[in-house]
Amino acid sequence: MQVKQTCILGSGICGLISGWKAQQDEKEVTVIDSANRAGGVIESAQSDGFLMDYGPNTLSLRLRKTEDVLRQTGALDHAIDANPEAKKRFIVREGKLVALPNGFSSFLTNRFLSFSGKLRVLLEPFLPKGKDRKNESVAGFISRRLGKEALDYLANPFLAGIYAAKPETLCMRHTFPAIHELEEKHRSLLLGKIFDSSKSDRLTESRLISFPSGMSELTDKIKTSIKGDFIFNHKVTKVAGENGKWRVFACDSNGNEWNNSFDEVVCTLPAHQLAKVSWQNVARSENLSLLQKASHFPLSVVFLGFDEKAVSHPLDGFGFLVPEAENLNILGSLFSSTLFPGRAPTGKVLLTTFVGGERNPELALSDQETLYGKVTEEVSSLLGIRDQPVFRHIKTWKDAIPLPDIGFDERKKAMNNLQETNPGLLFSGSHLTGPPLPNCLDSR
Ligand SMILES: Cc1cc2nc3c(=O)[nH]c(=O)nc-3n(C[C@H](O)[C@H](O)[C@H](O)COP(=O)(O)OP(=O)(O)OC[C@H]3O[C@@H](n4cnc5c(N)ncnc54)[C@H](O)[C@@H]3O)c2cc1C
Repeated sequence: MQVKQTCILGSGICGLISGWKAQQDEKEVTVIDSANRAGGVIESAQSDGFLMDYGPNTLSLRLRKTEDVLRQTGALDHAIDANPEAKKRFIVREGKLVALPNGFSSFLTNRFLSFSGKLRVLLEPFLPKGKDRKNESVAGFISRRLGKEALDYLANPFLAGIYAAKPETLCMRHTFPAIHELEEKHRSLLLGKIFDSSKSDRLTESRLISFPSGMSELTDKIKTSIKGDFIFNHKVTKVAGENGKWRVFACDSNGNEWNNSFDEVVCTLPAHQLAKVSWQNVARSENLSLLQKASHFPLSVVFLGFDEKAVSHPLDGFGFLVPEAENLNILGSLFSSTLFPGRAPTGKVLLTTFVGGERNPELALSDQETLYGKVTEEVSSLLGIRDQPVFRHIKTWKDAIPLPDIGFDERKKAMNNLQETNPGLLFSGSHLTGPPLPNCLDSR
């Protein structure tokens, strides 16, 4: 039998995993990317002894299938676990850091919610199942089941931390499918949490992992496990159907054109890049414009290093998140040098702070001095920092994270239509899988 030639467009985590899976199916793999490296938004960088992750900082390992893929690609052997202190997470309430509860007794004593806010959460098991839940937003779901205060002080900061988005925009069914399902099966989330028996796909203990040299090691390891050709610094410009095959055209920065014909093309380019490619002889091509509709907001990641002695807070946790009701500029910060070893030189600490997203898109695109000024002022006040930073760095993502909003079903339908009517032309990418890394690792 003739070996199928597959071309993967994009070498982010979705492209790499597609390449690895195609290789498992004994296909010959070519991966093409406009950047000079693999990994896409997964990018680690070193400067002055600080190790920064520009994109994801951690991978949350909860499912057996995620662990299996990581093991089979060889990436798991190199993974490191987050400091156990990372189990402690803070939110900002009335301008101060408050640790989130880690059990029922701390839920009762902790001040993350007011007394009436906690009573409202405890009412949850007595509430009926909701109606018309299919397209319900996360905000609608959480305020209905847990109350307005849980929406403002739990859901709102957590979604800023995961998606840099607002709970009003995100669709509950796509954002937290397992929690959505709990209501469907058990009526109540709290009762469902206690009685749900469908846990066989979960690991007995979840892990929060990274790698000694940062998250880039994840994509570097997967890349190494693919034996095919990698073509970097080439931007895909055209994909054309041709006698049952697909011809891919790409250009380097000097305008030199490359093209080749493949049995199969897997496009994992971000949704915001699809319109820049010329698609020829694609049946039902109107579906391509639906795929492009995924919304992305800009996000800036601000890295600040301080002398450990200048910081009053013990930084004994994962970091903190800021509810929108607190009216700050920042979305939250990670205590990066607490999370994993080697993130800062001895005697120094590293904070990674996120700014912008749906809450404040213009601010993410401000000039660097504005960003440094606002972030330094706010983290210094929250963490009791007495000195100026000894290290500063910014990474801005113009189109950061595709949101699992109400249009997600429509985009998946458009993908299925395209794939059914164009044999050999396939689509993946975080705009179709959902952005968390375990979703990406589960893609085709
Ligand atoms: C700041 C940030 C923080 C995050 N934090 C977390 C986290 O802590 N945990 C978590 O689970 N997830 C996190 N995520 C989400 C997760 O990292 C992403 O969903 C995932 O990495 C996206 O992978 P991808 O392959 O879909 O896209 P990308 O990584 O965007 O890869 C797309 C690739 O396509 C290439 N490309 C684009 N256009 C062309 C073209 N015309 N021709 C050729 N190549 C092209 C790009 O160069 C890129 O390499 C975060 C994301 C961001 C941005």
